[in-house]
Amino acid sequence: MNLKPSLYGFDLEEIKRLTVRENIPAYRGDQILEWLYKKHAASFDEARNLPTALRSRLAETYLFSSLTLTEAVPSANRQSTKFLFRTQESDILESVLISQQGRETVCVSTQLGCKIGCVFCASGKGKFGRNLSAGEIVEQVALIEKSLGKRVTNIVFMGMGEPLDNFEATMKALKILQEPWGFGIGARRITVSTSGITPRILEFVKRSEGRVRLSISLHSSQENKRTELVPINKRYSLHELNEALKKIHADLKREITFEYTVIAGVNDSKQEAEGVAKMAKPLNAKVNLIPYNPIREMEFKTPSGEVVDKFRDILKSHGIRVTVRQTAGRDINAACGQLRLDRQAAAQ
Ligand code: SAH
Ligand code: SF4
Repeated sequence: MNLKPSLYGFDLEEIKRLTVRENIPAYRGDQILEWLYKKHAASFDEARNLPTALRSRLAETYLFSSLTLTEAVPSANRQSTKFLFRTQESDILESVLISQQGRETVCVSTQLGCKIGCVFCASGKGKFGRNLSAGEIVEQVALIEKSLGKRVTNIVFMGMGEPLDNFEATMKALKILQEPWGFGIGARRITVSTSGITPRILEFVKRSEGRVRLSISLHSSQENKRTELVPINKRYSLHELNEALKKIHADLKREITFEYTVIAGVNDSKQEAEGVAKMAKPLNAKVNLIPYNPIREMEFKTPSGEVVDKFRDILKSHGIRVTVRQTAGRDINAACGQLRLDRQAAAQ
């Protein structure tokens, strides 16, 4: 399929080059950026302060946007909404908006599917599609902001895909989200979550000077168990990951959060909690416990509230800051990736 490039994903320099190439005044470039990242126009037709002739000329080469919002499904408690988008190739992509305590947080996807293949995650099952472009990543935020009618305040890269396995697009999306000519969202309000591609974590920290938050998906403090759950651990061991995190903490003074999906009878033991505390303590890391969100086709079980509380209390007894994420929107299948998996199964 021959796809036209979308203007979403263009940064300031690229827009400047476009104005030179197309021989249009520089201020038109600022107007285009505004229509993209502030007003979130869906097509050239909406960009009314651009001359009609220019609009049709640009439309011959470029698409304005490349995603189409197809559905918004609110959860029963109204605290989260799942947004479905269609890509140019009619693949399906999802993001979740979580409205809590005055914050509007969007959970963005970075890939169609995921190559890491964590055993409890729907995104890693089924066939890998492709990386999303920087434009497709930021467009998820734009279309949600537009549909919401107010500004999105926080972004988490915790949807489908492994952001650091789509490194350059993720870095570019982060830039567009932060820059004043882009969305203008502060770095401290953006979190990138990774399964632990150690060399890329180091590069990410170095390059994201704006102090974007870093979340590491831990899921076990035991080398063998982590390899079973998060296969990338075979390549980049827990030991290596821990050494890199110590360096990041000591040299770069970055705050680190561990995400820990608690699965009944798999990684919910006292020994695991002690191990997590031992890793988190010297890093002054915060731990976010996520009770496993059931995925069809998988036999894992959600732990009871008592088990999660006990795990949390052990961490607390070591002075670790810990939160338990209440799975916002289990009823709408907010576990990213489930929907794509269902569609693939239905197509077989
Ligand atoms: N690939 C990145 C970001 C996307 S996953 C990463 O792994 O960090 C975002 C978080 O959701 C990860 O911590 C992941 O382990 C967790 N997660 C995935 N499937 C889950 C499920 N079924 N229940 C609970 N948490 C899950
Ligand atoms: Fe990929 Fe993250 Fe899911 Fe693992 S948890 S399969 S890295 S999206």
